[in-house]
Amino acid sequence: MFSLTEKATQKRAKLHNKRLVLKTIYDQGPISRADIARATHLARTTVSNVVTSLMAEGLVLEVGQRLLERGKPATLLRVDDDARHIIGIDLGGREFAGVIANLRGAIRRRRRTPLANRTGEAALERVYRLLDDLIEESGEHALLGIGIGAPGVVDASLGIVRQSGRLQWRDTPLRRLLEERYHVPVYIANDSHVAALGEYTFGNGRTGPNLVVITVGMGVSAGVVLNGRLHLGDSFGAGEIGHVTVVRGPEAQRCSCGNTGCLETVVSEEALIAQARAIAWRNAQSKLHQFAPTPEAIDLQAVLQAFEAGDDDLHQVIRQMGRRLGYSVATVVSILNVEQIIISGALVHFGAPLIQAIRTEFEATIHPMLAAKTNIHASDLGQDIVVKGAVAAVLSGEMALV
Ligand SMILES: [Zn+2]
Repeated sequence: MFSLTEKATQKRAKLHNKRLVLKTIYDQGPISRADIARATHLARTTVSNVVTSLMAEGLVLEVGQRLLERGKPATLLRVDDDARHIIGIDLGGREFAGVIANLRGAIRRRRRTPLANRTGEAALERVYRLLDDLIEESGEHALLGIGIGAPGVVDASLGIVRQSGRLQWRDTPLRRLLEERYHVPVYIANDSHVAALGEYTFGNGRTGPNLVVITVGMGVSAGVVLNGRLHLGDSFGAGEIGHVTVVRGPEAQRCSCGNTGCLETVVSEEALIAQARAIAWRNAQSKLHQFAPTPEAIDLQAVLQAFEAGDDDLHQVIRQMGRRLGYSVATVVSILNVEQIIISGALVHFGAPLIQAIRTEFEATIHPMLAAKTNIHASDLGQDIVVKGAVAAVLSGEMALV
């Protein structure tokens, strides 16, 4: 019994040393073995042994020498950024999107697969098809794992999609299904949580250990990073601000969650398109008519074009959506006092007018001291925020690199 425990401890220490050395080379490379030993406080022989095994695994390369004033020159090491590839998947949009990325999160390949309103088993088939295609394209590269952002309530520790209204999944054991099929580690979390991880790891919005990303696309939800860690919530529902009731009475519309009048029913890509169609029906002068042949043909692209052409009605709609969001942001900030608020998702295309409306309502709603301290801006990761976050989940979980 004792020897078993000792063995386990040794194994854990070995894994710890390996991760520490790899992370040091990842962050500080090109770096010499002696400098790794200094940075990690590990013995030089330990560092040498770990480096030998990392080189044997193809993760680390020798990249020339640095001449020293005295003694023999030091050989420099760096991580081979393409030694492993990672698949990142975003199941939260109108299409399923997937990428193959390297150990730095640089995207090597992309694939999209239209969902065309498929749900349940048919939607799952689409996930398989997307992954089959990406794996076929990854060629010779060894796959480190698959990361997934899925809409709805996702138990990230068990890898089960508890409830996704949009995909009509309930208690779907996505991790098990995918691990059995692809034989690599799979990480799954709610898409907004994953977006926050993407921003925290690869975005420019990171200025400290705390961050909130509010995604406004098919729905509205927030991902929260506190003290450098994703805050998932006791039942994985942290940040579900899109399902707080904001409209009551006869005007309240049914929501995918089963309730009526949720924030998502009035602030989302679909709500925007519905409002734009209504504008086109009632206003023959609307600029929308220049970009879509009929009101039914109006899509997000047409709305954006008419908006940029200065359509007054659309500007009013965006301001109203911004104000509703600003109120939600105020609620989030007054509880968490996080100073970096980043807006992502399809509605970010509406740019400064949207952000300004959020900001105005936010300032009118919250304690002035908190208002002055809070930055609200758009993510610069664009559509890649979830796939990049999914890649970060794998890098963090499998190698502790990010
Ligand atoms: Zn709802």
